[in-house]
Amino acid sequence: MTAPGAGRRFTRLVRPWTPSLSSGELATVLNRLRSWNPFDGGALLGDVAVVQDDVPPAEEATEEIAERLRGHLIRLSNIAIAAEAERDPAAARLIEQARTLRCEDLPGDHWTAIGAPAPAGLDRQRTPRAARRRPLSEGSRMTHTASPRTSDSMRTEPLLVPFVIQREGEDAAPDNLLLTPIGGPGRHRLRYADEDPRDRDLRGVLWARCSFGAVDDFGKPTGKPQWRMMHPLRQRGTMQAMRCQVCAERARTPLGFIFLAGPNTVDSDDPDILTNQPPVCARHARTAADLCPHLTRDPMVLLAQSAPLYGVNGVGYGYGSQGLQVVERPTGPIPYGHPLLPTVMASQMVRRLSSFRPLGLDELLWELERAA
Ligand SMILES: [Zn+2]
Repeated sequence: MTAPGAGRRFTRLVRPWTPSLSSGELATVLNRLRSWNPFDGGALLGDVAVVQDDVPPAEEATEEIAERLRGHLIRLSNIAIAAEAERDPAAARLIEQARTLRCEDLPGDHWTAIGAPAPAGLDRQRTPRAARRRPLSEGSRMTHTASPRTSDSMRTEPLLVPFVIQREGEDAAPDNLLLTPIGGPGRHRLRYADEDPRDRDLRGVLWARCSFGAVDDFGKPTGKPQWRMMHPLRQRGTMQAMRCQVCAERARTPLGFIFLAGPNTVDSDDPDILTNQPPVCARHARTAADLCPHLTRDPMVLLAQSAPLYGVNGVGYGYGSQGLQVVERPTGPIPYGHPLLPTVMASQMVRRLSSFRPLGLDELLWELERAA
């Protein structure tokens, strides 16, 4: 080995090398590579072939195919956005169309859903619905068996439906509301004629009733997702117990609680932010961002150390020309303790993020990886 100082020394000054990515950015790239599954174009073409075939897909397979196509669409538009295809006006238009389409529900009528004329003599409205498909367990891969074209190459990732999403058939229960005087002039309390302790939250506010559909072997809801609606009681349950809105498991992470918001929907300089979106666990931060129609692929992450219960979203009841009816529609959440609450019917629980740090989704994933 050459002794120090014995070799020829370079004296010309050169600019020191700097890495092109910071350690955080490198970790993000590593995370992405680890969780990457190659896009399966064969599966996409297989599904497209099934729906375009002269023989329409079986009714019981329609929802499953539609969900797979929705998954392909999300994946394709993410790839297009990542490749900056939006610079091309035609591609930008298609990406926008994809954003709208991926949130649309499949028409309830089978023949409308598959875009085919109903067979002669069959009343569209009375086409019986197929038995509900059981959702696939998370992490499993979906192999569909709807068509003889099925092969091992026609597989794709299942589309996970967040726990809080309302499903078809989960409807508001018929109301049998009453207002009873509670002392003091004009003071009333809203209640159900057949009230049950589950109808009120921990602070005694009355909640909208909504039926629960069938669940699978894991206790997870089944049925066609109503993507833009949260089931009021699953929203309340996850929000109250700080459970993940996707999997309903405990949402606490080593960094705190993760809440997501669409970009520009909240002012992160605001010291207090109110949210009706239950938290997400570390495993589902990206899934929630991909699936939620209210979010974009790069939502704002609010990492909260403290998120006390604030109040509810709901409507106020009173007597009007039609008897007992909605008489107040507050524009924002109603805080617990508000004088309107005794006559309010709540539909969403709201928390206040009081100690939080805003960050991007990639930053969050990197920090989670480091904290694990
Ligand atoms: Zn989760």
